[in-house]
Amino acid sequence: MPSDFIDKISALKAQWPDNIAVQCFDPAYFATLSEGHKLRLQKCLNSGVENPDSEMGCYACQPSDFDDFKPFFARVLARHHKVAEDARHVNNWDLGSVEGLPEDGVLDIAKLGLPALSMRVRVGRNLRDFALPGSMTKDDRIRLENRMMGVFDRLIAMPEFGGAYYSLTPGNPCFIDDAKYDALVDAHIMFKRMDTDRYLIAAGIAADWPFGRGCYASADRELMIWVGEEDHLRIMCMKRGTVLNEVFDRLKLALETVESIEGMEFAYSADYGVVTSCPTNLGTGMRASLHIALPNLTADGTDAKAKAIARPLGLAVRGIGGEHTPIGADGTLDISPSARFCITEAEIVAALYKGIVLLKDAEAACGK
Ligand code: ADP
Ligand code: MG
Repeated sequence: MPSDFIDKISALKAQWPDNIAVQCFDPAYFATLSEGHKLRLQKCLNSGVENPDSEMGCYACQPSDFDDFKPFFARVLARHHKVAEDARHVNNWDLGSVEGLPEDGVLDIAKLGLPALSMRVRVGRNLRDFALPGSMTKDDRIRLENRMMGVFDRLIAMPEFGGAYYSLTPGNPCFIDDAKYDALVDAHIMFKRMDTDRYLIAAGIAADWPFGRGCYASADRELMIWVGEEDHLRIMCMKRGTVLNEVFDRLKLALETVESIEGMEFAYSADYGVVTSCPTNLGTGMRASLHIALPNLTADGTDAKAKAIARPLGLAVRGIGGEHTPIGADGTLDISPSARFCITEAEIVAALYKGIVLLKDAEAACGK
């Protein structure tokens, strides 16, 4: 009931100052909405109301939610991304548009004195003609997977991609068992199970697990497309090397290839760019990361020092198995620029290149 909902949020507002969704919720704006829109906005906030310790506390559940509930989401975006409430996003993959990069445009970390590292760039994408994962029915999830299997057949037939699709859906012709699934997760190819994540459960995103979930991997296992995680699709390129352009350029090509296939119309917002479930990913949906060993900064067995140094550099620190996982045995961490919104794709990969050298210097200074 909307009135119970308002009472609940009012109580949470006083207690949870860091829950962005709760803090940005305005009962006066809510009162102006139709009954149908009230229920839709309420659904977006469910995760943060059920889990008041959330930092973000809301997810879009329909491709048009950011536009339809702009007075709410503009405040959320301003608060998380530290931008103005009327900020508009512009997409741009052209590295030539970024200042301060090597003249030849090659982002080679070997030039910074770094060894070959595991590099990964991913983007979130959602289709325009399905509800977002938080509001999908089980039937939607299976229809989405079936549509994607047609796209994967096309990629598998292309010599530059090839590969295979792996499904978690019982009865799917590409079904894989638990042992195979665990091996793919360990290889950083497949995503972790979602049915134990209380935030994703409350958001509706983990519902119907494992139906409609799966992953395409190219023959060289450097291009992956996840189906049915936090966004309809997560498209990523990953390889060990030193030249960041290799993963960035291949991702762009793969994305253009997928988007050119019939039935692959992605959701965009005129003001906000790429539509993603979580407002933290809106705009580019892009995260560019490196796995790097920082033994000095992690000598105490925690990532606390690395985080304290990385944060002012605009870099986020994750564990070796991704978000909410521990650091690697040799002090290896996952480093990525935090910004996704009101920054271009080219600026994100450039920020990783520029940031990693500063982090490397901090690591060296810490060992002295
Ligand atoms: P995202 O939200 O960007 O998909 P997660 O933190 O959920 O990232 O991690 C997903 C998977 O991607 C995990 O297996 C993680 O270890 C892997 N991963 C992320 N960055 C890299 C990288 N640079 N090299 C290898 N694996 C990576
Ligand atoms: Mg993730």
